[in-house]
Amino acid sequence: MALIVQKYGGTSVGSLTLIQSVAAQVARVRECGDKIAVVVSAMGDSTDRLVDLARELAPEPDAREMDALLATGEQVSAALLAMALRARGVAARSYTGAQLRVQTSEAHGKARIQAIETEHLRADLQSGCVPVVAGFQGVNARGDTTTIGRGGSDTTAVALAVALQADECQILTDVDGVFTTDPRMVRDARCLQRLSFEEMLELAGQGSRVLHLRAVEFAKKYNMPIRVLSAFHPSAGTLICAEEPTVEAPIVAGIAFNRDEAEFNCFGLPDLPGTAYRVLKPISDANIDVDMIVVSAARGGKTDLSFTVHRDDYVQTKRIAAGLMQAFPESNVVSNDRVAKLSVVGVGMRSHAGVAAQLFETMAREAINVRLVSTSEIKISVLVEEIHLERAVRALHAAYGLSG
Ligand code: ASP
Ligand code: MG
Repeated sequence: MALIVQKYGGTSVGSLTLIQSVAAQVARVRECGDKIAVVVSAMGDSTDRLVDLARELAPEPDAREMDALLATGEQVSAALLAMALRARGVAARSYTGAQLRVQTSEAHGKARIQAIETEHLRADLQSGCVPVVAGFQGVNARGDTTTIGRGGSDTTAVALAVALQADECQILTDVDGVFTTDPRMVRDARCLQRLSFEEMLELAGQGSRVLHLRAVEFAKKYNMPIRVLSAFHPSAGTLICAEEPTVEAPIVAGIAFNRDEAEFNCFGLPDLPGTAYRVLKPISDANIDVDMIVVSAARGGKTDLSFTVHRDDYVQTKRIAAGLMQAFPESNVVSNDRVAKLSVVGVGMRSHAGVAAQLFETMAREAINVRLVSTSEIKISVLVEEIHLERAVRALHAAYGLSG
């Protein structure tokens, strides 16, 4: 007998009919003799609608009240699913984050889960009752409701699976699993059978939206296997787990991309210790995350520094950079918010040479200019003009033999 935590995303509980079919699936797991706890997201796009309501009243609503409001979305779907289960004769009980004492840090809107009390849940599971937990929420030390960041129900599910020492955390969603790249862009993208935590971390961090990044971090830390699978039809999905040394890892597992980048090039900076610090410090002081950073080799006492930020931070960064350049009279800054980043990810890169060469060869063949490059042990990211992104992803997907 296994203990499984299943999480159903917003599209899977988007209507009463869908909630009834989720109840049928949950009942089936129980009929197989497994124990199950369920975590749900808010119905459809109801969180977005709550955000819109709040913004109609105030452009920047109070953070505490915003959490009080947003947490209701998941409470609705949890209560409805518990009712649907009971209507089928399956014992079930819904829980809000506060009822379960999902302890989080203070920060409203981006709180972190610190502990989950499992006493009630264990009693339910023991007696054959299915606990249905509202995802995305908890309470802070003051007893106020908190939320843990958009898309956070995945993280609730993994945290719950860890707390209950479940055998597997299943994320049921509107896609069949994790694909080699976004199938909406590349039609012959393939659903992966398995993926290591490291690969999923890189893919989630580099733009794949299948899983909440923190959920993967949590799962890796506690070695909790995650299975991503369709909520709508039977599929084995993708198993994300620790790397198995006996299994030959693919050199490239997948390609992620994101269009949220903006690029800055500072030319002709003095080649002196502390220059990069002087440029980047005011940007980090403004709470802006810098992603890629490249310093060029110096020539004649001058050097160039390029970096990228999130496109939402473009205007503010542009203002800061312009101010900064006044301190460097001989330098100038050029910026571009029509760039995109693609990342080739695979643990097999650790032990195989030539992955980067193949990337540059493909870009050369496609006549696509590579603007910036950054690498980790299992990833190569390149920045290109946004208009070339699709062509670049398709060509690389074929070049690395990822097509189905
Ligand atoms: N309902 C929340 C959101 O839309 C959390 C989640 O769906 O995971 O972001
Ligand atoms: Mg999600």
